Amino acid sequence: MSKLLIIEDSVMMQKVIKHVAEAELDCMFDIAATKQEAERLISCNEYFLALADLHLPDAPNGEIVDSLLDEGIATIVLTASMDDAKKQQMLDKGVLDYILKENRDSYFHAIKLANQIHYNKNVTVLLADDSALLRRHIRRHLEQMLFNVQEAVNGIEALNAIKENPEIGLLITDFNMPEMDGIELIRNIRKTRTRDIFPIIGLSSSNDPTLSAQFIKNGANDFLITPFIHEEFQWRILKTMEEIKLIQKITDSANRDYLTMLHNRRYFFTQAKKLHEQAKSAHSSLNIALLDIDHFKKINDEYGHDAGDAILIQLSKQLKHAFSEYTVARYGGEEFIVIFDAINLDKTMQILESFRQKIASTKYRTTNKTLSFTLSIGVATLTDDSLEGLIKKADLALYEAKEQGRNQVVSTCIHFSTPKKLSNEVLLPA
Ligand code: GH3
Ligand code: MG
Ligand code: MG
Repeated sequence: MSKLLIIEDSVMMQKVIKHVAEAELDCMFDIAATKQEAERLISCNEYFLALADLHLPDAPNGEIVDSLLDEGIATIVLTASMDDAKKQQMLDKGVLDYILKENRDSYFHAIKLANQIHYNKNVTVLLADDSALLRRHIRRHLEQMLFNVQEAVNGIEALNAIKENPEIGLLITDFNMPEMDGIELIRNIRKTRTRDIFPIIGLSSSNDPTLSAQFIKNGANDFLITPFIHEEFQWRILKTMEEIKLIQKITDSANRDYLTMLHNRRYFFTQAKKLHEQAKSAHSSLNIALLDIDHFKKINDEYGHDAGDAILIQLSKQLKHAFSEYTVARYGGEEFIVIFDAINLDKTMQILESFRQKIASTKYRTTNKTLSFTLSIGVATLTDDSLEGLIKKADLALYEAKEQGRNQVVSTCIHFSTPKKLSNEVLLPA
């Protein structure tokens, strides 16, 4: 796994950056205090990026930068002294950025940048431009930021590349291109991918000031005026990527249940509607299961609400693990729902029966007690029902499972009933 290397000789600064990295960094890191120590670490570790101080006891004039770049490690310089000539010299050598150590915020800034670079390693950028010269120039900047880069020479080629390569996570496009220009390309992409999920940056040349507005109006997230300076290029891209990540984070948390971090009912219905329509038009199999904890109220009453919460969290992890291939959500208090697509009812029943048995034999640890519980499960299979009708059928099957003594899986067609006697420490009220 690749890590971040921090090179800093001041003990006090080391403490600050270590503190910030432990709290904020998304990957592992090592700290070296000298050039020699850094070189020793590099010889036995894989680093994707280094944050390097220019003045080290055994390398007082930024020599560490050459060692890092020679090893092919992307480098961000962290320095206490800002000197325009030195900064330009470093950027010309190929360092990614040059951050002035002014205060604690500088370290936050550096770690945030390191996180973004770490993330970029898994993002492919599509660069659409008919000028080979400009493509080469921009590719170099993007590769420095550890993005994977693909190129297209016109809008049609770009559109096809985006359709065929789901790993493309950012488009940078010129306006003037043969076959299809940049604005038409963006309009086409926006028919299916909104600004919130697929970022696009337009390139407009400084001799046409109207283009930037055209790009934004037609759906670009941002634009860059060429020629640009290195820092502006880098920060506009990082800002766009950060916005997309933030939106994804907000969307994801709106789709999840706060206690269990499972998907919530709202998300479930969005997914279930799609799967239901697909299954109906393809005449394929679709089964819905409602899983309800038996006598959960008694767990709360006897062990406290916190113990109840701990049970819900642990059971949710088991659900997530067991049904990772399917859509699973918290449907209500102690009730969960799973939608099984593309497997038949028999297979669905087998999977659920083995999950029921697993839960009945699990010992759950809460703050002051180990306890067990059971699940009742109701299953319905799609015939010509509406989604709501299908869920209603699963609910009726669940009701039947409760009526027939709980701890069992019941479908509208098949009935598995193998209630087990549980051990003494188990909470299983009559
Ligand atoms: P049955 O076997 O018939 O399903 O009985 P039950 O006690 O499990 O069902 P009932 O619907 O009577 O009670 C459900 C309980 O779940 C009541 C409610 O207080 C509790 N509950 C709902 N949400 C939460 C939660 O987030 N945390 C905790 N600790 N309890 C919850
Ligand atoms: Mg219950
Ligand atoms: Mg219930």
